[in-house]
Amino acid sequence: MLCKDVAKRAVYKLGEEVYIESVEKRGAWLVAICYVRSQTRREECYQVVLKLKLGTRYFIGHCECPDFKYRGGPCKHIVKAKVALREYMKLKRRV
Ligand SMILES: [Zn+2]
Repeated sequence: MLCKDVAKRAVYKLGEEVYIESVEKRGAWLVAICYVRSQTRREECYQVVLKLKLGTRYFIGHCECPDFKYRGGPCKHIVKAKVALREYMKLKRRV
């Protein structure tokens, strides 16, 4: 996904690195669709889906980058997406 296309419909962005497309509540979960800019191919963004269990610190993250595919563990994009989501939620609470 090209970052410039993602930027158009983002509800929140953290610098030029992380874009949040949507955040919605699904039952006991908060589901966020995020895009994080690639370190190597700067035009491109990887989609990161974050699922946070409401009222807990438990979360599940999925990223479409090769690193995540090979290792199956949290990659740096998931970490960045989590930081952006935290900032977004802070903003929401203030409104
Ligand atoms: Zn990743």
